[in-house]
Amino acid sequence: MEHDGFMYVNNGLKNGITYFKCNKAQSHFCMGSIKKSIDGTITIVKRHNGHAREPDNTIVVNNFRNVLKHRAATENA
Ligand SMILES: [Zn+2]
Repeated sequence: MEHDGFMYVNNGLKNGITYFKCNKAQSHFCMGSIKKSIDGTITIVKRHNGHAREPDNTIVVNNFRNVLKHRAATENA
């Protein structure tokens, strides 16, 4: 998922809270992580280090893919 210009991968669920870690955790030794509570509130757990935000076009492409995915699912239903 994308949040505030950073990309995250799911890092597990605990007590209803979903944890995400930076998708550059391994490649950049980044400690960036966030958590998402049941009501959808996202809280920053640790800030990113060692790299910048994703370029805007990466996020746009990503969102575009999600739209296509959604559209395909709707049309097939
Ligand atoms: Zn990061």
